[in-house]
Amino acid sequence: MPKSFFTPAQTTKLRKLQIGTVFDLLLHFPARYQDETKIELIKNILPGNFVQIRGIIIQAKVNYGPRKNLMVTVEDSSGIIQLRFINFYPSQIRELTEGSEIRVFGEVKNNSYSKEMIHPQYKAIKEDNQLPQTYTPIYPTTAGLSQKNLCKLISKSIEKALELNSYYDYFPDVYFKRNLPQLMDAIKEIHSPSKENEIDLLNQKKTINFQRMIYDELLAQQLYLRGLYHQKKIHKAMPIQFSDDIHQSFIKNLEFNLTGQQEITLREICNDLKNNYPMSRLLQGDVGSGKTVVAVMAAIQVIKSGFQVAFMAPTEILAEQHFSKVKQWLAPLGISVELLIGSMTPSNKKIIQEKIKTGESQIVIGTHALFQDAVSFKSLALYIIDEQHRFGVEQRIKLRKNNFIDQQYEAHQLMMSATPIPRTLSMSYFADMDISIINELPPGRQIITTKLFSESRRKEILEKINQEVNNGSQAYWVCPLIEESETLQLETAENTHSTLKEYFSQHQVGLVHGRMKSSEKESIMKKFKGNEIKILVATTVIEVGVDVPNATLMIIENSERMGLSQLHQLRGRIGRGAKKSVCIMLYQKKLSAVAKQRLKTIYENNDGFKIAEEDLKIRGPGEFLGIKQSGVPGLRVADIQRDHALLELAKKDADDLIKERHPSIGNHLERWLKNYQENSRA
Ligand code: ADP
Ligand code: MG
Repeated sequence: MPKSFFTPAQTTKLRKLQIGTVFDLLLHFPARYQDETKIELIKNILPGNFVQIRGIIIQAKVNYGPRKNLMVTVEDSSGIIQLRFINFYPSQIRELTEGSEIRVFGEVKNNSYSKEMIHPQYKAIKEDNQLPQTYTPIYPTTAGLSQKNLCKLISKSIEKALELNSYYDYFPDVYFKRNLPQLMDAIKEIHSPSKENEIDLLNQKKTINFQRMIYDELLAQQLYLRGLYHQKKIHKAMPIQFSDDIHQSFIKNLEFNLTGQQEITLREICNDLKNNYPMSRLLQGDVGSGKTVVAVMAAIQVIKSGFQVAFMAPTEILAEQHFSKVKQWLAPLGISVELLIGSMTPSNKKIIQEKIKTGESQIVIGTHALFQDAVSFKSLALYIIDEQHRFGVEQRIKLRKNNFIDQQYEAHQLMMSATPIPRTLSMSYFADMDISIINELPPGRQIITTKLFSESRRKEILEKINQEVNNGSQAYWVCPLIEESETLQLETAENTHSTLKEYFSQHQVGLVHGRMKSSEKESIMKKFKGNEIKILVATTVIEVGVDVPNATLMIIENSERMGLSQLHQLRGRIGRGAKKSVCIMLYQKKLSAVAKQRLKTIYENNDGFKIAEEDLKIRGPGEFLGIKQSGVPGLRVADIQRDHALLELAKKDADDLIKERHPSIGNHLERWLKNYQENSRA
C-alpha cells in the first residue's frame, strides 16, 4: 500500500485510535453491529431490544418544563410509539414535522403509557433510499471522526487493498486445512456482514470471518514465541550428564520421600540438562508442592559435574530461608553454599563476589543482586529463578543473554512459579518455554479450612488465636498492601501488632515488614520458626515461600482487596504440618458483587489451578501476571480466554510451519506484529 494513503488530518485522528497503517485500519473492527436491514411492526417490538420501525409522524411538539423536550409520536399500521429528544437542534424540529414518514432505529423502552425510544437515529423516507443489505457496523471512534467518515475510509482502504492485492494469504494450505476463509474476504465481511450472518454470532466475534482473523493473529503470536523457543537450540550450553550415584547420596539423607510428580519433573529437567543447548523450563506447582527440593536436586547434578549454580529468589527473606535449607541439605555432600543479597555490607558482598569469580562457591543463593554487573561467575551452568511468574518474555531473554560462560556457553534456565499458570497463559505468554507441572501435594498435608469473617468479629479471632497458642501452635496475622500504599499497610500492621501485644504477653508477638533491615527480619523469622514468637504480624513480605509447619492459623486483613492467587499463596503458608489449619479472611462490610464472587471462589476452592483460572477471568492476563508490559505485545483481535480453542490450533500449526521452515513466516510476523520487530532479539 502507498505510504501516504491517509491525509495528514486523517493520520492525526487515526493515531488516536492506535491506527498507524492501512492494515491497522482494516483491523479496526466494529465494536458491535446494528440490524437496519429490516423493519418491525410497532406492536411486535419489545422493551430492551434495538429495532427499526417505519411510520408517519402524527404529532411533534416541544414541551417546556424544567427540561426542554422534543416529543414525537410515530404511527405505523400496527400501533404508535413515542420518540423523545432531550437535547435537540432547531433543525430537528424542522425535520420531524407532522405528516412526514421516517425510519427510526433505537432501543425500545416502556414508559407508563406507551412504548418509547430516547434519542433514536432516524431518517426521512425518500423515494430512493432503500434498506441496507448488510448489517451496520458501529465502530469505536474518536472526536472529529464520524461513524460515517470512518466507514467510508475503511471501505476505501478495502477497495484499494483488493485492487493492489496487498494482503494475500501467506499460508493458503493452512487456512484451507482449518476451513478458514481468505484474509481479504474475511476482512470485507467483518466490515459489512451480509444478512446471512447471525447478528448475535457477529457481536460475539464467533463468525467464521472473525475466527479467521483471530486465528491469524494467534498464529503470528505463536510463530513468534515458538520461534524463540526453537531458536534457543542454536545457542550452546554445557551438557550435564545425570549421575544416579550422586542423586542417591542426596536422597538417602532426605527427611521425606519424593512424590511421584517430583520425580517426574526432576527427570524432565535432567533430560533437558543433557542437551548441548540451554534449557528453558518452567516448573510450576501449587504452594507447598515441593518445588525447591526438585530444583536443588538438579543443581546437585550440575555442581557435581564441575559447574556453578545461581538460585535467585524474589525477596531477601525467601533467599535467606532457601539458603539455610539448602545449606543443611548440601553440607553432607560437601557442596559450598553462599548467600548474596542487596542488604549485605559492601565488604561482605565483595568477599562473596570473589568466591563466585574463583569458582570457590558452588551454589549461590540470592536476590536480583545476583545478576548485577559486579557478579561474574567462573562457570555458571544453571540458574534457578524462584517465583518468577511476573517476568515477561523480554526479561527472560535478557537474563538468558547475561549469563554466559566464556562468552560461549549459555547457562541452563529453570524457573519456578507457585502461581499456577492457566493453560491459556502457558500457551501464550510462556510459549517460549517448556513446562513441568507438579500437581499434587506431599502426603499428610491437611486441607486448610477457610472462614470468611466480617470486620466486626475481631474479638472472636483473638480468642481463637489464644486457643491455638495454648495448644502449642502459631499464627500469622497478615496485613496486605492496601491501595498500593506501603505506609498505610505498615500502619495497619503496627496497630494490629500493638493490639495483639496488649492482649497477649508482649514477647509472644512479632512484627515483620518490608521496611525492616534484613537482619531484623531474619532474627524475627528465626524466632518465629523456633516457636519463640507465637504470633507473627506481617505485611505481604511473607507472601511467597516462607515455611513454618507449626503455624496453623492465619488471619488476613482486607482480603476482599487482594488477588485470588495472592490469597491462595498466603493461605499456603499454613497447613504445612500435620495439624489442622484454619485461615480466616477478614473483609470490610458492604462488599461489591465482584468482591463477593471472588471471596466465594477462594472459600470454595483449594486447588490453585482452579483459583488461577478464576483469577484470570476476573482480572485479565496483564494484571494476573502482575505485569502491564508482559513483553508479549497485546493482542488486538484475539482474546486468549475466549479463543483458547483457536490458540491450540495456532500453536500446532506454528510448530509445523517452523519445522518446515516456511519462507513466509517473517512476512506474517511483520504483517501482524509491528512491535515484535523492536522486541525481538538483536
Ligand atoms: P513450594 O513448591 O511452595 O516452593 P517447598 O519447596 O517450599 O514448596 O516445600 C514445602 C515444604 O514441603 C518444605 O518444607 C519441603 O521441605 C517439604 N517437602 C517437599 N517435598 C516433600 C515431600 N515429598 N514430602 C514431604 N515434604 C516435602
Ligand atoms: Mg517455593
